[in-house]
Amino acid sequence: MTVSHQLKDALDTLKTTGVRMTPQRHAILEYLITSHTHPTADDIYKALEGKFPNMSVATVYNNLRVFKEVGLVKELTYGDSSSRFDYSSSDHYHIICEKCGKIVDFHYPGLDEVEHLASHVAGFKVTHHRMEIYGDCADCAAKEVH
Ligand SMILES: [Zn+2]
Ligand SMILES: [Zn+2]
Repeated sequence: MTVSHQLKDALDTLKTTGVRMTPQRHAILEYLITSHTHPTADDIYKALEGKFPNMSVATVYNNLRVFKEVGLVKELTYGDSSSRFDYSSSDHYHIICEKCGKIVDFHYPGLDEVEHLASHVAGFKVTHHRMEIYGDCADCAAKEVH
């Protein structure tokens, strides 16, 4: 899907859920869809503050909350560090650089089976799972070699 298609889908979703579209919301959504960097609220604020001088980090955060409530974005939490936000176009997994914190998407099918097994073994009604792969990204690995 192209960026403009994704943006149109997102705008349609907001319309059906009755969320009012503002220029700031539009810009935040567009940034989330185009950046692919899993930004923090602060990253988004820094990227857009030139365009919206009156916008605060709190505004960005509140808008992200709204998007999260209607299912447009996922909030990724990692211990004590700031939440990162991911435009959830489709289910995917993350590989995370332990050095610089970069998060890269990848797709892998088949973990539904693990959910079924866990559900069966433990007698849980499974809602979701979380899997992350860790390592050094190519940039960081290149910096190590001198
Ligand atoms: Zn890295
Ligand atoms: Zn992602």
